[in-house]
Amino acid sequence: MRVGVLGATGRMGQAVCRAVLASGDLELVAAVARSTKVGHELRDLIPEAPVGMVVGQEVSEFLVARAEVVADFSSAEATLGAARTLLPEGVHLVSGTTGLSAEALEELDRLATRPGGGNMVWAANFALGAVLAMHFAAIAARYYTHAEVIELHHATKVDAPSGTAIRTARAVAAAQEVSAGAGRDHETVPGVRGGEVDGVHVHSVRLPGLVAHQEVLFGGQGELLTIRHDLLDRSSFMPGVLRAVRAVPARAGFTSGLEPLLGLGR
Ligand code: NAD
Repeated sequence: MRVGVLGATGRMGQAVCRAVLASGDLELVAAVARSTKVGHELRDLIPEAPVGMVVGQEVSEFLVARAEVVADFSSAEATLGAARTLLPEGVHLVSGTTGLSAEALEELDRLATRPGGGNMVWAANFALGAVLAMHFAAIAARYYTHAEVIELHHATKVDAPSGTAIRTARAVAAAQEVSAGAGRDHETVPGVRGGEVDGVHVHSVRLPGLVAHQEVLFGGQGELLTIRHDLLDRSSFMPGVLRAVRAVPARAGFTSGLEPLLGLGR
């Protein structure tokens, strides 16, 4: 399958280029970005890239290169622009770009659902373990009424709590009404019991040395169940990204989240 990468010079884009090049069944045919590397050989960044492959600036370069699927880790603005150009031309899109508004996601859904156009898979988290941990937490929540989420990330993360922690807390709350837990009335330091998402307490830890980690703690009678995921390296996203790249041509319309590609419903 012929694959293009949008945001190819970025942290995720470079990892995707490497994963595609190492895959054996996928061919990297174009790399596009908006950086000082535009016009330079991709090999300057990724030595295993094909000789003569130059980083382009225009999304139309994916059409010229006859890409069948474009993997996108760029910016919200770039993702929308790419979808408007590529989906009507029948090119499929796999995107992990975050920060898309509800309106933007609706437009992407519409564009990917037009007959004859390309399909799209968008997921805010491509790490298999993170998606599974969320799923397991939603199952456990059916059996426990007390749960708290602790998410731990590197010190430069821009948002708190993480999007995954919010989604996890919502999934837990949706499965069963969770008790907000004891202690809010007894806080001697304001906020020490964490924030609340749909009644579930969420605690955000930010420290250098951490990467991306999350624990969901369920408290029961005389027992504690902890579901923990540790993301140690950006390469952890690649099995999920490649799974989506291989699956997207056969998934009609717009798919949100990795869960359906893992047989986890929706
Ligand atoms: P980065 O800043 O390292 O890279 C961004 C890339 O996008 C660069 O190559 C840049 O040149 C390109 N770009 C930006 N604006 C562009 C435009 N208008 N046109 C063309 N190219 C453009 O960022 P990153 O850490 O690689 O993250 C990229 C995106 O992926 C972010 O939205 C991030 O939150 C998301 N992300 C998602 C997951 C997931 O699992 N879904 C995991 C990690 C990061």
